[in-house]
Amino acid sequence: MSTREEYLEMLRAAKEALPDIIESGERFTPPRPIVRWEGKQTHIVNFKELVTALNRDPKLLARYLSKELGSPYFLTEDGRKLILSRKLDPQLVDARIQKFIRTYVICPHCGRPDTVIVKVRRTWVLRCTACGAETPIPKI
Ligand SMILES: [Zn+2]
Repeated sequence: MSTREEYLEMLRAAKEALPDIIESGERFTPPRPIVRWEGKQTHIVNFKELVTALNRDPKLLARYLSKELGSPYFLTEDGRKLILSRKLDPQLVDARIQKFIRTYVICPHCGRPDTVIVKVRRTWVLRCTACGAETPIPKI
């Protein structure tokens, strides 16, 4: 084997050893929140898009953010925007939304977002329609 062949062989082996990152080809990429300040308020202008992509009740995410960020909220009449009545760091808002997605949308067993929230007696459960796993989640 020439040095070049050896090198190519080495590359091939290294590539095979890599974990298959792009498993199914379809990755879950919900829109990032667009956060704007209006006076002393914080507006999430693409809130409707976001909850639609996450397939979650808008009030659930609104309540979660209100609790996590310590701010009263209201939804605009058309449901498009969420308004938090405090001036909040957009990065912090984004971080809390990502935390919501990790806890209330993504199945911890298979990593897919095909889940629903169900109430089993007094417990909230994240039920995965892809793998069937049921994970208790904190109430909001
Ligand atoms: Zn699952």
